[in-house]
Amino acid sequence: MRHLKKYNEMLSYSGGDVTKMPIIGKVITKPIGPFESGEYDVVEVIETEKGPIYVTNMWYKEWKRIPQLIHTELVEEFIPLSNESFSMYREKCDRCGGPTNNSTTMSIFNTDVICMICKEEEKKDPEYEAADIAADEAYRNGIKDFEGVMPDYTPIIRN
Ligand SMILES: [Zn+2]
Repeated sequence: MRHLKKYNEMLSYSGGDVTKMPIIGKVITKPIGPFESGEYDVVEVIETEKGPIYVTNMWYKEWKRIPQLIHTELVEEFIPLSNESFSMYREKCDRCGGPTNNSTTMSIFNTDVICMICKEEEKKDPEYEAADIAADEAYRNGIKDFEGVMPDYTPIIRN
């Protein structure tokens, strides 16, 4: 009974038809026991105290509408879909226009692909941490065309 109760608590996903929900990313599972490493399409991520649980686009028991869930301990890697198709290559930094030297990263505040100097500047912004959490949440919820938590972001410190 204890096991059952625990299982029901985990099912706090939105309850939709997982086979028709938009795919937000994929997980690569670790090979464990008789199970080989595999790839699963993910439609939702449930946050729990013990880490995220990934809801796949497959039914575990269709007649009970229980989706196939993958616990974080079985997951080698979660790859958000938005990151897969997104090109990070820039010759010049979106923000300062300086050369990137082939080293770029995504702004935490908006969709700029920025150089490492600008990234360091961002980290000094007092709202960096809050923006980081908000951006994370948006990706997990699969928000399409996410424009960042501050689309009009301008750095507080200009060099
Ligand atoms: Zn820059």
